Amino acid sequence: MKITSPHFQKNASKAVSDPLLREALGLIETNFAGNRKEAIARLPEFDDLRDHAKSLKDHVIINLDLYLERFETEVKKSGGTVHWCSSAEEARNTILKLCKEKRARTVTKAKSMVTEEIDLNHFLSSNNIEPIETDLGEYIIQLANEAPGHIVAPAVHKTKAQIAELFYKHHKDLDPDRSLNDPADIVAEGRAVMRQRYLDADVGITGANFLVAETGSAVIVTNEGNADLSLSLPKTHIVVTGIEKVIPTVEDGLTMLRLLARSATGQEFSTYTTVVTGPKREGELDGPSAFHVVLVDNGRTDLVGTEFQDILRCIRCGACLNHCPVFGAIGGQAYGWVYSGPMGAVLTPALTDLQTAHHLPFASSFCGRCEEVCPMHIPLPKMMRHWREKAFKERINLTRERMIVRCWAFITLHPKIYRLISNLAASFFLTISKKSGWLPSLPLSRGWTYGRDLPAPEEQAFHTLWRSSRRTHENQQVHK
Ligand code: SF4
Repeated sequence: MKITSPHFQKNASKAVSDPLLREALGLIETNFAGNRKEAIARLPEFDDLRDHAKSLKDHVIINLDLYLERFETEVKKSGGTVHWCSSAEEARNTILKLCKEKRARTVTKAKSMVTEEIDLNHFLSSNNIEPIETDLGEYIIQLANEAPGHIVAPAVHKTKAQIAELFYKHHKDLDPDRSLNDPADIVAEGRAVMRQRYLDADVGITGANFLVAETGSAVIVTNEGNADLSLSLPKTHIVVTGIEKVIPTVEDGLTMLRLLARSATGQEFSTYTTVVTGPKREGELDGPSAFHVVLVDNGRTDLVGTEFQDILRCIRCGACLNHCPVFGAIGGQAYGWVYSGPMGAVLTPALTDLQTAHHLPFASSFCGRCEEVCPMHIPLPKMMRHWREKAFKERINLTRERMIVRCWAFITLHPKIYRLISNLAASFFLTISKKSGWLPSLPLSRGWTYGRDLPAPEEQAFHTLWRSSRRTHENQQVHK
């Protein structure tokens, strides 16, 4: 996948002026965020679960080697094989080798962000192996040849009409006059097209939401059941996942699952939760005869012991995306890679490099909602601030931006100058917005008003109100 994170500002400008994208993104707040709120209200112990999950993952991260080795031992005992891959390239080559050993022509894939991260689809295609995405959202963006728009709902940025158009274009052997106006028709067509592909596939590739060290199992969660078909129908099942997904016990997995579904989609539990332990046993009718786990590091161990270690607790629930005003305005593709929203703004510079992704940590108003809703208590704003500091220190951001930061630092360190400038600015903006109460454009900062008008400032600044209320309070005390 071509990384377009260096062009984040251009991507974001394009996104805010796309009315169809804004229509599609509008549903995130109502559906995902609204459902999450209700689901959490029904679980009084939610905060206790979060605390427990946070300390559990912290413990796992500092003992990652022990749990991963235990996991490998258990996978071997159950008849499977673990492949350790330090880079994306090593992971791609390992998967290709496994596919070639099986003489695979087609592979079915369930949704896996790590396979997006290592750009597996393009690599397999360029080696004459056809990857078929079986998650409906992933299938849609595969047809559109686009990056995922959201880590949980990859095609969330597409409207119903855009999806129907893609289906008419790509499903050429179906009746061109069929109706795809109803979402149910779209889902039914997607399922029907995929059914035969499951049967044709030589290898099934899935991700894993968690890896259980004590049993060597992969826990895979979907709402469509497509992972179950991808892993059980082909003769070979390959799990591709990040090393940070390991947890000690099955019971820990249940704790995580209770947090994951509620935080992601507001469900009590995802529709399908599958625990896979090794290939099929003797006498079993279903399941693959070979089971491989490709453990991808790709920069993760470098984060252990750094100010970015906390991001390794992420369970990819997407709650931070669903509550982020920046993500809500521009969607995931503007971030230019696999991971988007606040978690992407932290993870992308870590897994690519800061030069490539330095714009992303600046794409935040620091309102703090992401940290507030994160089931793993990940301090996302703090880590974005660390990236900003690094970008500043390493002189990665533009000279103009650096000058603005320096001026701002000077002004805020001198209260008198701050007050003078803010009062002058407020009077100026009040004058030019007198009639409508809105500012359609800001001099020298047009980016702020590119996709929206700003409300006019209040007649009195906060510090003026604060001083006058303090004076009133002091006078009252004197007269008592
Ligand atoms: S950072 Fe937190 S809220 Fe965001 S995806 Fe990860 S676990 Fe979910």
